[in-house]
Amino acid sequence: MKIPFLSFTPQHAPIREEVLAAIATVYDSQWYVLGQHVRDFEAAYGAFSGARYCIGVANGLDALHMSLVALGIGPGDEVIVPSNTYIATWLAVSYVGATPVPVEPDPTTYNIDPRRIEAAITARTRAIMPVHLYGQACEMTQIMEIARRHNLLVIEDNAQAQGATAHGGLTGSFGHANGTSFYPGKNLGALGDAGAITTNDEALAQKIQTLRNYGSQQKYYNEVIGYNSRLDELQAAALMVKLKHLPEWTRQRQQVARWYDEQLGGIDDLQLPVTAQGSTHVFHLYVVRTSRRDALQQHLITSGVGTLIHYPVPPHLQQAYAHMGIAKGTYPIAEELADTSLSLPMWPGMTEEHVATVAASIRSVL
Ligand SMILES: *Cc1c(COP(=O)(O)O)cnc(C)c1O
Repeated sequence: MKIPFLSFTPQHAPIREEVLAAIATVYDSQWYVLGQHVRDFEAAYGAFSGARYCIGVANGLDALHMSLVALGIGPGDEVIVPSNTYIATWLAVSYVGATPVPVEPDPTTYNIDPRRIEAAITARTRAIMPVHLYGQACEMTQIMEIARRHNLLVIEDNAQAQGATAHGGLTGSFGHANGTSFYPGKNLGALGDAGAITTNDEALAQKIQTLRNYGSQQKYYNEVIGYNSRLDELQAAALMVKLKHLPEWTRQRQQVARWYDEQLGGIDDLQLPVTAQGSTHVFHLYVVRTSRRDALQQHLITSGVGTLIHYPVPPHLQQAYAHMGIAKGTYPIAEELADTSLSLPMWPGMTEEHVATVAASIRSVL
């Protein structure tokens, strides 16, 4: 049995007619940018995230970038970011001319370690960008408390954890402004690029609405040097249909994770995901770790099981950040994660039999 890393079939097949009907509505409306579908989706996604305001934008990276712009972060500022994250988190900081300052993760949850944050704070630090990595909410109570104590802004990178909670609060509702992504493979995926910013600050929400639309509130009158980064009507219409199913898809991801936990327990050289007390995990990815990662991945390929590595090179060792001159060995936890992590197939609709097949293949080699 071939098991792909990701299949959309179980999510998309049952809602095909509903999504196509929603798309047809946009087609027939003759209104394609910033219309009723975007407004409706913004209201629905804001409510889903427990945030008062939601602004739909073109993608997750733009959401993070415009959050930083709206919060006034710029050249000379430092922003604390995880040493282990997708590069988008760092790129958003670089876009505004600020400096990303890496902080190592907790080696069991892989989320930024709150106990290490204060040591990285300097007179130039303006903000912390926690990333709810792989779908697990960061320890937001501690992070918000540190931010309060040092008068820092918080921008959550919620691209991977829509619907997760930390001590009962939803991801995307804690920070001053928070970015998420609806890239197709994310837990809530569009049919192309899309993203959103959530915030509880009305003035900030208005600023971001202006920024995403050429710096304009009134057509052809431009207040600031803005961007063209709008969520479009077609994506909003499709997302609106998919959002209704997200809680059920999340339950299915969590069930798949429980099956993996049961079937992969007790293997010496295999570390399974750990969820911190007080946090929930929506399993955007199910990431295991082993010292024999490359051999395991090769073996799984030959048995027809798709896997990916999130992520093979931490941002500080990417060529794009060579100018920062951070030597290998500076962030050993991030580097070890890059060398040992493997993401197993994880998608709503995976069956217990799928999981058993993956587990049997892993057991035969480890
Ligand atoms: C996907 C992702 C982003 C960027 O989202 P895009 O929509 O691809 O721009 C940012 N941060 C993290 C952690 C992501 O996984």
